[in-house]
Amino acid sequence: MLTKDLAICIRAIDYSETSQIVTFFAKATGKIDAIAKGSKRPKSPFDGPIEVLSHGNVVFVDSAGEKLATLTEFQQQPDLINLCNNLFMLYACLFAAELLNNLTHDHDPHPELFDSFLEFLHNANEQHSANDQQRNILALLILFQLNLLNDIGLQPILSRCANCKTQYADLPSSKAKGRDTQYETYFSSSANGLICRDCEPGFPDKIMLSKEASACLSSLKRIPDAAEKTLKEIEKVLIHHLTELLGRKPTMAKHILDGT
Ligand SMILES: [Zn+2]
Repeated sequence: MLTKDLAICIRAIDYSETSQIVTFFAKATGKIDAIAKGSKRPKSPFDGPIEVLSHGNVVFVDSAGEKLATLTEFQQQPDLINLCNNLFMLYACLFAAELLNNLTHDHDPHPELFDSFLEFLHNANEQHSANDQQRNILALLILFQLNLLNDIGLQPILSRCANCKTQYADLPSSKAKGRDTQYETYFSSSANGLICRDCEPGFPDKIMLSKEASACLSSLKRIPDAAEKTLKEIEKVLIHHLTELLGRKPTMAKHILDGT
């Protein structure tokens, strides 16, 4: 079957002297693996070797029962990412691509997630002249990761305690019990969300969140304006959570946060 789609390359490996196996995240098709025959030849049918994060219109032939599709056309659009801009930006984009590759299934379309990924790449690249570009990129990356989890049906519960269901906004009422630290919550991967102070003893895997990180997670519109320190704390929790979901640490995680 001949399929036309709009796609972003999320993985590319050498297959032979002249060919590559590429993984595309395609808007209408979802993730596909395809062989790009001759992509590394001087007169490549695809305008040269295919690089991760390149995007454009693809045509591929898919036959039932075959794991690999055959790429027949790839009309590359101008690069979304200017690699000279910023190494952290590149790492963040590669990290997002890795997560898409590992958390979505072949031939399982996620058109909205495709748009969200394209927008993330675009917005991250736009930060090249911003003063606090690393902070901005981290904020974009956090929102993309939450979008991704949402789109694949693994949305963490962040507006209330995932266990007792008390709304985050109602948690300060525990002040009446004489507690001095308000609004702090915990994140538990096993509970898939925030856990309040009353429930935390039941979740040995919990991670304590500062009140700033708790407030941002319970109200995501705060994330673009959050301090870099808070964003790093949130990203650390997300990497921990993604590691639990994947059963191993994402390869690019160490480039996003030192010491992870
Ligand atoms: Zn609770």
